[in-house]
Amino acid sequence: MDLLIVGSGFFGLTIAERAAASGRKVTVIDRRHHIGGNAYSENEPQTGIEVHRYGAHLFHTSNSTVWEYVNRFTTFTDYVHRVYTNHRGVVFPLPINLGTINQFFQSAHSPAEARALVLEQAGEFDVKQAANLEEKGIALIGRPLYEAFIRDYTAKQWQTDPTELPAEIISRLPVRYTYDNRYFNDTWEGLPTDGYTAWIERMADHPNIEVRLSTDFFDESQPLNQKATVGQVPVVYTGPVDRYFDFAAGELSWRTLDFEEEVLDIADFQGTPVMNYADADVPYTRIHEFKHFHPERAGRHPSDKTVIMREYSRFATREDEPYYPVNTPEDRAGLLAYRELAAGEKDVHFGGRLGTYQYLDMHMAIGAALSMWNNQLA
Ligand code: FAD
Ligand code: UDP
Repeated sequence: MDLLIVGSGFFGLTIAERAAASGRKVTVIDRRHHIGGNAYSENEPQTGIEVHRYGAHLFHTSNSTVWEYVNRFTTFTDYVHRVYTNHRGVVFPLPINLGTINQFFQSAHSPAEARALVLEQAGEFDVKQAANLEEKGIALIGRPLYEAFIRDYTAKQWQTDPTELPAEIISRLPVRYTYDNRYFNDTWEGLPTDGYTAWIERMADHPNIEVRLSTDFFDESQPLNQKATVGQVPVVYTGPVDRYFDFAAGELSWRTLDFEEEVLDIADFQGTPVMNYADADVPYTRIHEFKHFHPERAGRHPSDKTVIMREYSRFATREDEPYYPVNTPEDRAGLLAYRELAAGEKDVHFGGRLGTYQYLDMHMAIGAALSMWNNQLA
């Protein structure tokens, strides 16, 4: 073995694929029973509808290197992501656009009029100087829209005071003064035509790659554990960075998600893939309805059944799957300490969402892995 990779998510698999293609022998271990990390999907058995096991995954990128790379393993449908939100029983389009603004204010503002209105309502904060999520949210869309669509949703999603959350979280959502309600701004977008698992399996399908599932790096009863391998073979580690160091600099905080899946005996539950619930009195943040991600599969989907999944968010304990780094000021101090420890760890390369404690979209995880391969490992 030339390289041990801990974690078979997109970061680990990209490194594995590149290493294998250049003639290296690679072993990938994952503590789960399947490869693919959080992008894993499987067909719901009653209906055959593809369900994204760890929450809906939408692929989008403006990085041509990443787009060229991923197209080696899968083609993509022409799916374009659009999200709606339910506020006080009325449905509005997201991200905040001229349609949302005019529906909310029962108005017919032109783009210039809407900008002037938002500027007046956002006057208390400046976008460039916004220090946290609340200031940034108000600076971008003004207080009334912030309170309707962002404040309570964010409270449900993060259970952290928005003044403690980094402004970047909200920078992910565009604000538009047109009626364009595409969720993402990226050049390329789509869903893998044969599903995520087919894509992921193609990346791992190489004689130089051995995959061992249900294998935990910290389980000393299995031979490829931390104590037995570090210092003996180069390691790419994509698990939680604080766990690697046995929480020596404290625990970094994460959000986890609970998913409640239901098969309903109706053709269509909500008419769209994702409906957010903006208000505090609805306990879930959003409902996914998976058949709508693949309208091109309509002929294969049952006409009298649909699969929905309600998503709930809460703080993660050590036993939960960590999903979103919370990134409070204390977390950022802890992360600096872990970065120093990681720099001192010879021939161990920390990567991915968990290994760097960063919210990474799939294209970012793949792009970062390609860079690590080219610049450090190749
Ligand atoms: P992961 O996919 O988390 O893989 C890490 C792997 O390491 C896991 O399989 C885990 O089991 C394994 N592991 C951890 N510890 C150990 C250990 N001790 N021993 C062995 N194995 C271990 N991105 C998008 O582009 N679009 C989206 O719409 C989108 N939606 C998302 C929704 C949710 C709810 C979440 C959580 C993420 C979403 N993402 C999305 C991000 C996407 O999932 C990540 O970019 C991608 O998973 C990153 O890959 P990774 O390899 O860094 O991490
Ligand atoms: N957000 C919000 N209301 C919404 C959608 C998003 O307040 O209806 C905020 C919230 O803070 C969220 C962030 O914008 O965490 C990023 O949203 P996105 O949909 O990108 O989150 P993800 O799909 O990664 O959970």
